[in-house]
Amino acid sequence: MYDIIIIGGGPAGLAAAAYSLRKRLEVLVIAPELGGKANYRMHLSGLEGFEHITGEEIVRKFRSQLQYLDFARVREEAVKIEPVVNEGRDAFKVLTSNGNAYVTRSLIVATGVEPMRLHVPGEESTMGRGLSYSAVSHAPLFWEREAAVVGSGDLALRSVAELATVASRVILVAPKPLPDSPLRRRIGEMKNVTILEGQFVKQIHANGYVNAITIEDANGGRQEVPVSGVFAELGLTPRSELVAGLVDLDEEGFIIVDDRCRTSHPGIFAAGDVTDTFGEQVLIATGEGAKAALAAYDYLLGMEE
Ligand SMILES: Cc1cc2nc3c(=O)[nH]c(=O)nc-3n(C[C@H](O)[C@H](O)[C@H](O)COP(=O)(O)OP(=O)(O)OC[C@H]3O[C@@H](n4cnc5c(N)ncnc54)[C@H](O)[C@@H]3O)c2cc1C
Repeated sequence: MYDIIIIGGGPAGLAAAAYSLRKRLEVLVIAPELGGKANYRMHLSGLEGFEHITGEEIVRKFRSQLQYLDFARVREEAVKIEPVVNEGRDAFKVLTSNGNAYVTRSLIVATGVEPMRLHVPGEESTMGRGLSYSAVSHAPLFWEREAAVVGSGDLALRSVAELATVASRVILVAPKPLPDSPLRRRIGEMKNVTILEGQFVKQIHANGYVNAITIEDANGGRQEVPVSGVFAELGLTPRSELVAGLVDLDEEGFIIVDDRCRTSHPGIFAAGDVTDTFGEQVLIATGEGAKAALAAYDYLLGMEE
């Protein structure tokens, strides 16, 4: 039986693994790959050596430590978690897509989020070449460039506000009516922002990097607009389905955690983007992963022998 099983090999899972290993615990990381979304890179034409915060160094360090310890990881996907009693103690059984079962005294869920896709021609080939799903991460790269944001919710409005401080022009393509809010009104007054409500992006064009989008209005009229970046800000889907019946989730499906990364189920901890913690960034996920490992260690110390 393991002390801790960590599900997910992104920044949160890797940091949790590094801290658990330092505590000499029996640890297993279950993940199809190591690095998670920290493996994404953004490339733009004419952009050399622009500093932005990727957390690359710290993720690489944690990843290489785990790559070396092959007894502490399996390249599998967790498909089910069952609370069980093992040797008289509360435990969890994790079933994987390979048909394996692993038993543990505590769990850290660090499965991240999936950004909602646009599903338009040009999307696949422009990911990381002008198409981004994270304005928090990439807005600073668009200094004096033209960019489009796609989305109708709070996430899209916040992205427009951030981009408008650096980009020369921002076009918000909002498929649905925008909610009335102070932020919506503020954006409406910004001189370099154009709002296209009830319109859709139908295609992303590129010449190596994004260079234009085709927008369709409610009457089917189309126009091609030059931009060097597209931010798909339709929303994030947390990968919390594994623990959906076991722990409390918020209305969007994020795992609710307290300030020690504890969920509502004793022995199950969660960290990183999949939780309701604010800020989807590598450095935040790393810190939360480290905290979850320390909290799980504390939980194990307090368990009856
Ligand atoms: C396109 C893009 C660019 C970004 N750029 C930056 C940036 O420049 N700087 C920055 O700070 N942040 C950036 N971010 C945000 C940052 O990548 C995330 O905040 C961070 O990776 C979250 O870490 P995480 O460990 O919580 O989740 P993730 O990195 O998403 O990792 C989740 C892990 O869980 C695994 N997993 C999922 N389901 C299962 C399962 N059922 N069983 C086993 N394993 C599973 C996945 O394979 C993966 O290993 C970017 C995000 C995106 C989408």
